[in-house]
Amino acid sequence: MTHTCVLIPGDGIGPEVADATKRVLEASGAPLEWVSRPAGVAALDQGHDAVLPQTTVDAILEHGLALKGPCTTPVGGGFSSVNVALRKTLQLYGAVRPVRSLDGVETRYQDVDLVVIRENTEGLYAGIENEITEGVVSSLKVATQNACDRISRFAFEFARQSGRKKVTVLHKANIMKLSDGMFLKAAQAMHESYQDIVLEERIIDAGCMQIVQGPENFDILLCENLYGDVMSDLCAGLVGGLGVTPGANYGADNAVFEAVHGSAPDIAGKGVANPLALLMSGVMMLNHLHRTRNDETCGRCAESIRDAYNLALREGAMTGDLGGSLGTEAFADAVIARLGGGR
Ligand code: ATP
Repeated sequence: MTHTCVLIPGDGIGPEVADATKRVLEASGAPLEWVSRPAGVAALDQGHDAVLPQTTVDAILEHGLALKGPCTTPVGGGFSSVNVALRKTLQLYGAVRPVRSLDGVETRYQDVDLVVIRENTEGLYAGIENEITEGVVSSLKVATQNACDRISRFAFEFARQSGRKKVTVLHKANIMKLSDGMFLKAAQAMHESYQDIVLEERIIDAGCMQIVQGPENFDILLCENLYGDVMSDLCAGLVGGLGVTPGANYGADNAVFEAVHGSAPDIAGKGVANPLALLMSGVMMLNHLHRTRNDETCGRCAESIRDAYNLALREGAMTGDLGGSLGTEAFADAVIARLGGGR
């Protein structure tokens, strides 16, 4: 069985980390075939008239699977964000962002093991903004019962399937009584069917403080769109930064795997970006193929890559953002050399 994956290299450090990730996935023997499609500024550079060309969307709809580098949206160019558009068009409503301490990566915390689950399709990202009159603008925060219910179900199902015990909803329902109120109530109602999982609630500001004080007290963090965005970067900071934080966006029929980080223009083209976050996203993709298409080879490859990068990090092979000296390609080589325990 071979799986066709749409590869979207993206912008900035995207092509560098995508290429390194693809090399490691191929070296692991993962049964993947690649179809490369552009998005972001790269799409405009290649002559498309949109940052998210229809051919890219169609390829994902056809194959149900994409590995995506970060995409830049030109500021003030009249384009809406590629990432937001992709998630909305494909109804990739559930983002899963695991945040875990890594041996060999020194941080202020040990034993962090959290998953941020972010609602991906509405909230303040609905893109409804108005200029009411000169000097007065508004951005509308949207919550729908359907989206609140499905992300709640998704979080509890994820908890069950991954053997996790607790979901903490982060909200500001004391201020945004209708929108965050609906989000919170949906989680409470859904919890009736998932009594084996503990449900906790935190007002987002107090929750941030408590996560920083004791991340080990949290398990799954369930957030609406904007809170999930901010919380993902906050949690990334607990374990070594954006270079080690992967992500997956799931819809009913499609899944797009991408790192939490953006295109990092400050280090683009220098060959120093850490490809690990996208590589970890690739491992999530292999586990998804194992789970949903019953492909055990994918499961074995995922395990082999995870063991290899863990070993590399333990042995001090890492990129500059983690305090090491390797560039993007050299780190990918270090992982490849350790596949199968270092042949
Ligand atoms: P966006 O606003 O597009 O979501 P972001 O807030 O996630 O982006 P990034 O562009 O990803 O921000 O990067 C923030 C900083 O983190 C960058 O300046 C860069 O130095 C660092 N960074 C991000 N990703 C990586 C990576 N893969 N390897 C090394 N450093 C990284």
